[in-house]
Amino acid sequence: MNSLNILPQWFIVIYTFLIGLCCGSFLNVVILRGLKGESFTFSRSKCPKCNTQLTWYMNIPLLSYIFLKGKCAYCKEHISIQYPLVEALCAILFCIAYLSFGLSLKTIFIWIFLSFFIILATTDILETVIIDVHTYILAILGLVYNIFNFGYVNILNSIIGAIAGFLIMEALAFLGTLFLKHRAFGEGDSLIALSLGAIFGYKNLLIIIPLSILIQAIVSLTILAFGELKNKNIKLGLSYIFVFISLFIVGFLNFNSEIYNSNNYLLIVVPLCVLLLWSLKIVLDDLKNKKITAKNSTDEQTPVFKLLPFGPAMILSATLALFYLDKIKEIILNFIY
Ligand SMILES: [Zn+2]
Repeated sequence: MNSLNILPQWFIVIYTFLIGLCCGSFLNVVILRGLKGESFTFSRSKCPKCNTQLTWYMNIPLLSYIFLKGKCAYCKEHISIQYPLVEALCAILFCIAYLSFGLSLKTIFIWIFLSFFIILATTDILETVIIDVHTYILAILGLVYNIFNFGYVNILNSIIGAIAGFLIMEALAFLGTLFLKHRAFGEGDSLIALSLGAIFGYKNLLIIIPLSILIQAIVSLTILAFGELKNKNIKLGLSYIFVFISLFIVGFLNFNSEIYNSNNYLLIVVPLCVLLLWSLKIVLDDLKNKKITAKNSTDEQTPVFKLLPFGPAMILSATLALFYLDKIKEIILNFIY
């Protein structure tokens, strides 16, 4: 490793980017075969549409997609944007990991964690499926990571973390059934939390899980708002956006001690809260209406509104925690006190 340290940093970054691209290309195969339930082989890739075997130059990460203009060279069918996105994301994250942790064994562990994160998030986004074995391998790697003392916690904390992660998500899912009449979170989410608990330990889960709920809320509100605006429900759409923005403003004001301690604080916050309550009422009335329509519909199983998978939010939260755990802790502590 030391002999590598004499190389210029830009050179290692480019090299890391290329490794990330190749790894991303491999992850695409794992994702596709996992979703199809095929066992893993190293056979040559085929076009999923026309089944023609691809030559090597159609398999170059990122570049092939760009030169083929996103179409299969044989049948001209569109190639899913998932392929270049996963490759680029993997390459960028690998570079961030190298720049954060240098050339070290820890970085290699982080690369492997990131790879599993990408697999879990992608299968969840594509088909709301979490493949169990991926989470088990990740949990074992998390324990090994902490045995080597690369992480934030000792091995005991890591084991407790895995159990706690699973139990916390199962408890939240159970609470969800009381309100929504169906599981609020899938079993896959509990398994993701199990592996994250093994990596980060149980105390850090108390930061990662609330952060994922916040991320989920932001994404859901945005999607709901744009959906309503698209359907020309301007008042409702704007209410969603206002709920979203005012939460941020209140958060920002609490964070900014100068405003928080001044007399102007109440002058800003009280009208803001009145407006927030008003838009919340519009939003809740709408949700109640949707619930009634769902009840009257013949299909008993129809959820009130289609829930987004929670896995990607947890993965995003965990990715942020891999790099910025101390920063996130500081912000949350500042937020509370
Ligand atoms: Zn084809």
